[in-house]
Amino acid sequence: MGGYRGARALVAELADARLSGAVCVGCAPFFDEVVPGESSEARIDRVTVAERLCSACPVRAACDAVAAELGREAVGVWAGRMCGEKGQGR
Ligand code: SF4
Repeated sequence: MGGYRGARALVAELADARLSGAVCVGCAPFFDEVVPGESSEARIDRVTVAERLCSACPVRAACDAVAAELGREAVGVWAGRMCGEKGQGR
């Protein structure tokens, strides 16, 4: 498991050094805007899990800043909020 944790940290740092330590690394489906074939109920449950993970994330403030910088390019759950949906802006 030590190698896996190391790889997760490396991926986060490659994406943006400010997000090193992000708890969502490796959990992409939970944070995606859309999962093909997913029911609306399943989506609500999935996004709720993502939002809970965000609430315990040590880099949430940095994530919010990065999402703001990305603007419309930020899609899915960022810093506990769904981004990229129609009518949703940062
Ligand atoms: S706040 Fe959420 S989306 Fe942002 S890095 Fe943390 S877990 Fe990932």
